[in-house]
Amino acid sequence: MNAINTLSIGLIVTLAGSVFAAPEHTHQGHGINNQNTEKVHGCWGDAHGNLEGDVFFLPMDQEAREIMESVDRANRGFTDNRVDFVVVGDGYTAAEQDLFHTNANTIENSFFQYEPFKSYESYFRFTQVEVISVDSGVDNDPSQGINRNTALDMAYWCGGTERLLCVNVSKAYTHAAAAPDIDQVIAIANSSKYGGAGYSSSNLGTAAGRNSSAAQIAIHEMGHSLGDLADEYTYGGPTTYTGGELSAVDVSIYNRNEQLNQETKWHYWMDATTPGFDNPIDTYEGGSYSQFGVFRPSNNSMMRALGRPFNLVSAERLLRQIYLEVSPIDDGTPDGSTVSQSDVVWVTPMQPLSHDLQVLWYLDDELIVSAIQQDSLDLSTLGLDSGSHTIRVEVTDPTPWVRNEAIRTNRMTDSRTFTVDACTPVADFNGDGALNFFDISDFLNAFNAQDPAADFNQSGSFNFFDISGYLSAFSTGDCS
Ligand SMILES: [Zn+2]
Repeated sequence: MNAINTLSIGLIVTLAGSVFAAPEHTHQGHGINNQNTEKVHGCWGDAHGNLEGDVFFLPMDQEAREIMESVDRANRGFTDNRVDFVVVGDGYTAAEQDLFHTNANTIENSFFQYEPFKSYESYFRFTQVEVISVDSGVDNDPSQGINRNTALDMAYWCGGTERLLCVNVSKAYTHAAAAPDIDQVIAIANSSKYGGAGYSSSNLGTAAGRNSSAAQIAIHEMGHSLGDLADEYTYGGPTTYTGGELSAVDVSIYNRNEQLNQETKWHYWMDATTPGFDNPIDTYEGGSYSQFGVFRPSNNSMMRALGRPFNLVSAERLLRQIYLEVSPIDDGTPDGSTVSQSDVVWVTPMQPLSHDLQVLWYLDDELIVSAIQQDSLDLSTLGLDSGSHTIRVEVTDPTPWVRNEAIRTNRMTDSRTFTVDACTPVADFNGDGALNFFDISDFLNAFNAQDPAADFNQSGSFNFFDISGYLSAFSTGDCS
């Protein structure tokens, strides 16, 4: 076992005991950045809601990863088609479960006051899982050295930082696993002390359930954990950033002209102004903990100050991430079905509050104009020729909040394809797609009128064999 492994196991043991060794300070943040750690954002507002904080590296909780993977496995092939947020509480006794729900509801309701979550509320499912702790409150609240016996070991002063509110990630996941599915976990502490943390790899955020800013911090943390967004504030790092291009979509070392010339980062959003978001989009110097050498897309978004809207660059990214969990097709005739020409095939698109998704139907790759925006298609109306046909329905989110068409095509579009083996019965005399009395009646009238169409065996004469041949084809439903 090498030194790094020994160290990380040592830290895991101390984590379980809710006593946190002060991690080492590094250029990129606090703690040790390696494969056995995970990046944890700690971001807190001042009296004006302006954010500050830092990036920390805490030991990766291997058991939590195993629980996450087993939840994924259990849901494989089962499409619940929602982004599942699971809220668990720590430091809430059996008698305080109503308080837990009240605190969780506050966070949930606040979440849907911000775009793009507001318009896409129907894409989310919040589940509140009751977790009963022996003691009320969490560790180091209000001051260091106060220890409490709680179910999830939540604690302030994590990593030696007062407001960094940590949780035992595997215990949080063990309880969250009671929910139908887990995409994001929010662990709330029964506390009014300002604090929080966003675990980037574990898709988990913490918040103080009784703090008035808790909901705002939780939404900001979701920007990190759901959207992989960077902080757009300028405190905590070197004054001037001198490194390479940053990976997050909402920070860049390139200014406006460089982005436009290189067609990189948010060049296609430049000057955009859209209600509901922090506008206008440009390059504003300062972000990712440095005042200089880094640019952010808007002046003062949620990734910079609490209570502010996200900017469109971040919203586009959040929508992309939402569509990793949600198909635009919520339900419908199963993909790959073989259907008959008298069937009705159908689809239920997802329904944002703000707009309808685009629904297009294709017959053998040709758009069926009469079926645009229809939720179902009656195949008997298509007058299909005999033979095999392909029907495809394609559902796309046309939102103008996404301008990267690769995202729209790859993430925000889904289709289902059906095969129809069409048969035109020989005896369908009036060609209406159905075999019934009218066909016989029309055939006999044509026969009496010596219409060539009634020369069923094409013998050049009208006789008993034409009638018997026709009736035989009628009774068997033979196709041409
Ligand atoms: Zn942050």
